[in-house]
Amino acid sequence: MSKKRIAIFGSTGSIGTQALDVIKANPELFSAEILTAQSNDQLLIKQALLFNPNVVVIGDEKKYGIVKEALARTDIKVFAGEKALAEAALMDCYDMMLAAIVGYAGLKPTLNAIELGKPIALANKETLVVAGDIVMQKAAEKRIPIIPVDSEHSAIFQCLVGETRNKIDKIVLTASGGPFLGKKPNFLVNVKKDHALQHPNWSMGAKITIDSATLMNKGLEMIEAKWLFNLAPHQVQVVIHPQSIIHSMVQFEDGSLKAQMGLPDMKLPIQYALAFPQRIANDFPRYDFKKPNTLTFEEPDIKTFRNLSLATDAMYKGGNVPCVLNAANEIAVYAFLRNRIGFLDMTEIVEQSMAKIAFIEKPTLQEYFETDAETRDFAASLVHM
Ligand code: NAD
Ligand code: MG
Repeated sequence: MSKKRIAIFGSTGSIGTQALDVIKANPELFSAEILTAQSNDQLLIKQALLFNPNVVVIGDEKKYGIVKEALARTDIKVFAGEKALAEAALMDCYDMMLAAIVGYAGLKPTLNAIELGKPIALANKETLVVAGDIVMQKAAEKRIPIIPVDSEHSAIFQCLVGETRNKIDKIVLTASGGPFLGKKPNFLVNVKKDHALQHPNWSMGAKITIDSATLMNKGLEMIEAKWLFNLAPHQVQVVIHPQSIIHSMVQFEDGSLKAQMGLPDMKLPIQYALAFPQRIANDFPRYDFKKPNTLTFEEPDIKTFRNLSLATDAMYKGGNVPCVLNAANEIAVYAFLRNRIGFLDMTEIVEQSMAKIAFIEKPTLQEYFETDAETRDFAASLVHM
């Protein structure tokens, strides 16, 4: 394999830093060509000095001077601001984009990379939740692969290798259940941010950790899976599997179930997506069958974790409804992280937004942008009440 030049959008985050670990461990396979961060200037500078990329972008324009100054003795190009971030994806200096920005902000750079014909390693699930039809269609037109990094989707992708002609009956997304598995609303109503930020199996960025505690993460992943694997909504099922060893399963029309397993470690799906179709040897810890292990499965409690029903609704309704779900959820999660609203209020805000925003059956990209903006305004008005 010749050296693949990777553009990491969101290099300072949980996925971004783990991707750089993978690149550092495999310098003969990968280089980092573009690195971007929203506000963590110090980490971005450190990464740039270590990996010597072609380009860095800092989202927060106030930090431009600091980054520029720190990299003055290098020939690394430095840009700042939201527009520059999207434009960097159009620079033809890389072979693959790792889309590791969190939230809606990841959509435009990813669309630009597709436009340029670059394969995508996709961590940013919100991109597909917001505009999955447009993103997948554009990728198909450009004949570029979108290789999932999300562990469940990586699992399904791996199960489907060699099965292109075989019909899928359904896919089964596993969910750990998060820190509040088995809890009821009378407990959840008092949950505070510090508790919700403690995930039992995975260490991740703040937004996805809260989404995991509310099960919105699994809801977003259902919609992500529908688009990635071209499924009908009824083919997507969620099962709670608290040990997070089986990362997801595919059931084919003959009833056979294929699963992909391993210890929960995002470095594995990251390196799989970067190196696909090759696998790379590594020294990551391995699952040990000699230790006492029990793998369990149960139905999700959708009466308590109503986000899962809301996301299912959004998936069935389609149109701009998943975009509304996502925008309202982003506003709600950041309000919860700022201690402005309670844990269960997050679901209320999403539900009310879904009831309020006008339905569009087949939105254009512009209409997705407008739906996102309108939903954010409405959801923010609920936070301020
Ligand atoms: P994170 O919060 O740790 O990092 C987010 C990155 O995006 C940072 O580099 C940050 O600077 C950048 N960013 C944030 N807001 C931005 C904005 N407005 N504009 C530009 N850049 C911005 O998040 P994460 O946990 O690494 O997650 C990244 C994405 O990957 C999310 O979509 C998440 O759902 C998905 N994902 C993460 C994990 C995980 O283990 N962390 C697993 C599966 C999927
Ligand atoms: Mg996941």
